[in-house]
Amino acid sequence: MTAKSMMPYVEGNSAIRAMFEEGARLAEKYGKENVYDFSLGNPSVPAPEEVNTAIMDILREENTLMVHGYNQSNSGYEDVRQVVAEHINRLQGTNFTSENIIMTVGAASGLNVAIKTLLDPGEEVLAFAPYFVEYGNYAKNHGAQLKAVPADTETFMPNLKLMEEMISENTRAVIINSPNNPTGVIYGEDTLKELARILEQKQQELGREIYIISDEPYRELAYDGAGVPYVTKYYRNTVVCYSWSKSLSLPGERIGYLVLPSEMDDFENAVQAANIANRVLGYVNAPTLIQRTVARCIDCTTDIDVYDKNRKTLYDGLTDAGYDCVYPAGAFYMWVKAPGGDDKAFCAKAKQHNILVVPGSSFACPGYVRIAYCVSYDTIVNSLPGFKAVMEEM
Ligand code: PLP
Repeated sequence: MTAKSMMPYVEGNSAIRAMFEEGARLAEKYGKENVYDFSLGNPSVPAPEEVNTAIMDILREENTLMVHGYNQSNSGYEDVRQVVAEHINRLQGTNFTSENIIMTVGAASGLNVAIKTLLDPGEEVLAFAPYFVEYGNYAKNHGAQLKAVPADTETFMPNLKLMEEMISENTRAVIINSPNNPTGVIYGEDTLKELARILEQKQQELGREIYIISDEPYRELAYDGAGVPYVTKYYRNTVVCYSWSKSLSLPGERIGYLVLPSEMDDFENAVQAANIANRVLGYVNAPTLIQRTVARCIDCTTDIDVYDKNRKTLYDGLTDAGYDCVYPAGAFYMWVKAPGGDDKAFCAKAKQHNILVVPGSSFACPGYVRIAYCVSYDTIVNSLPGFKAVMEEM
């Protein structure tokens, strides 16, 4: 018999599977080009050619046993971690070394390693609604519990006042995500300073550490030259979870890293615990060929102009049609108020126009929908009459 604890996931998953199946059914019936699938955060810009070249070069030039072997350390290749540390230092003026970096199987594994490293079963992690739905599952994986801080629907910046009220002697961490999935907002310096101030004060008051887990797969996707402040500079008890899934369009390769600053409390133990968590959670080490690849491509970037063009066209089209949208400063998602207020009803109506979007309920924030605009430009343009019709019908 399948574990009872998995059955709620199985039941929850049927909604997601139904959406995929519906997309496939619509594509078959109306033709793929006539279905506007905005449901997935899968990059639409191909990985830079340098990535493919680097993979070929590594296979030709480097020791095959090493390239395909287990890593000596579960934290990853020492030289790769040093390249990553120096890269962050160059961009952020920080002072990291390989000691501060642990290579991970994408941000998803980084988050799991971070939670297992920092939280004991029964402890709580806070996240700001709307948030990436897997956070709750990741917390549960380790016997921890996620508590949602209700959204500030004026700005969709973290609701720090409510967070302050929700912190208890059981709170061990706060997850933040900027640029944000699903809203596209970027947390500015003032927000981070205030967040740090509150957490410092709460640490003092409660006499225990409260960590920030900063989930940053969209760090490089910031438009109009917007800066994305580096969280460790504001709060030393921060663990950064980075990923190349979106920044180099490598989501299937499963590669990212954790940053644990030397200044964080209990650094030596935390680094060892994270190294061991990487092993015992079954990741063992981040994929070796791709570790070596990202080290060679450390200065490569994706073509953000493609997403930017989609962003502007979608925003203009939707606002012209009467939608109330957050103009995204980063990532590749548009966060839109569901006309009529019922996000699920809106998604169902949109589907009648071959438009697939995700209800805000999936991000602990009903009443809104997420449109992932990492799609072809034609998909954006051709979907706009459908969005207009849905607005009229709602
Ligand atoms: N965090 C957020 C906010 C995401 O949107 C995603 C993926 O979409 C992840 C984490 C997981 O990313 P990765 O592919 O690096 O595991």
